[in-house]
Amino acid sequence: MEKRLTCRAMGFNCAFEIRAEKEEEIDRKMAEHFKAVHTVEFTEELRKKANDLIRLVGAS
Ligand SMILES: [Zn+2]
Repeated sequence: MEKRLTCRAMGFNCAFEIRAEKEEEIDRKMAEHFKAVHTVEFTEELRKKANDLIRLVGAS
């Protein structure tokens, strides 16, 4: 099932969102986005936070 993570949920005022089947893919794309757009290093702490915030698409 498809999963989703928004940059807003991560605490940024940013409309970026990622949808992917695998959490690892979401992590990888979010890491690229953080570095490119927010110049923030995607640390282990942020990765854990991201994984807590990943939601299944369609779930409330
Ligand atoms: Zn962002």
